[in-house]
Amino acid sequence: MTRFGGIDTLVGDTPLLHLRAASAATGCRILGKAEFLAPGGSIKDRTALGLILDARERGLLRPGATIVEGTAGNTGIGLAAIGAGFGHRCVIFMPQTQSPEKIDAVRATGAEVRLVPAVPYADPGHYARQARAHAEALDAQRPGSAWFADQFDNTANRDFHQRTTGEEIWAQTEGRIDGFVCSAGTGGTLAGVGRALKARNAGIRIALADPEGSALAAYVNDGALAAAGGSISEGIGSSRITRNFDGAPIDLAWTVPDREWLPLVHALVRDEGLSVGGSSGVNIAGAIRLAQALGPGHTVVTVLADSGARYRGKLLDRTFLEQRGLPVADWL
Ligand code: PMP
Repeated sequence: MTRFGGIDTLVGDTPLLHLRAASAATGCRILGKAEFLAPGGSIKDRTALGLILDARERGLLRPGATIVEGTAGNTGIGLAAIGAGFGHRCVIFMPQTQSPEKIDAVRATGAEVRLVPAVPYADPGHYARQARAHAEALDAQRPGSAWFADQFDNTANRDFHQRTTGEEIWAQTEGRIDGFVCSAGTGGTLAGVGRALKARNAGIRIALADPEGSALAAYVNDGALAAAGGSISEGIGSSRITRNFDGAPIDLAWTVPDREWLPLVHALVRDEGLSVGGSSGVNIAGAIRLAQALGPGHTVVTVLADSGARYRGKLLDRTFLEQRGLPVADWL
């Protein structure tokens, strides 16, 4: 375990955890990749490192240049922390609807945070569009001084997941894996892991678990972007097909309502000591659906993307849940 590297050497190589209740309920072996153990606390540290390494190699991110990004939060934490390790400062545009815990965490990593209204992607005020415009403005003032990371459409995101997350899962299961499922924000995780596993064994089933309010499950199932309802989950779901998501090898897709995954998250805290965020809840519900589709005796892997501590005031707050008519655990 003796290592003498910087923060970047802490990214990746996360353990696979056995999810006891989900496995028992399905007769399958359901495993969760513990991405909440990453140095910045989420799977998006991989995205941050992958984007930064690629951009530095291609000369797009110059030494000392400012990193600019639009993010629901976790990518901002990853970019700020890992970027600082490489000598870069960060400006992060975030929708103001994100949890205060996550906004605080981005600030605590030293990033400059700009909170903007949550508007559809078509609106020029969208956080990702504002981030791109800001990077372009800085760069016009002083060429080479800023770089827009572009996690949604920069496929270095997906490629890094393919090389790391996907290959790790294959090695950790020693090839004994029948299905992989997760939700998609940029789509980098699902597309990258899906491509890695399909290249190893084309029979492995790849599934999308989508929150309500996202158009991706309908796109996979019917070829048309259509969404209904909403979700209290953060960082996942999309109204458009990003370049990272495009062409992902997906066999099955479901919309998972909040009332399905919230009890799983609450039970996981109480019975297994694991506190995870909402996207991980969607993922575990998706893993149960995939295990049921495959039948007993199979191995299904999913992702525990970040920690429940990042959503204390939502997922684990009785008043917040009751006000929305969502399931509340008796111990909350
Ligand atoms: N879960 C969480 C908590 C996230 O922050 C994100 C990224 N926004 C995702 C899942 C989705 O991952 P990806 O962008 O690779 O699709």
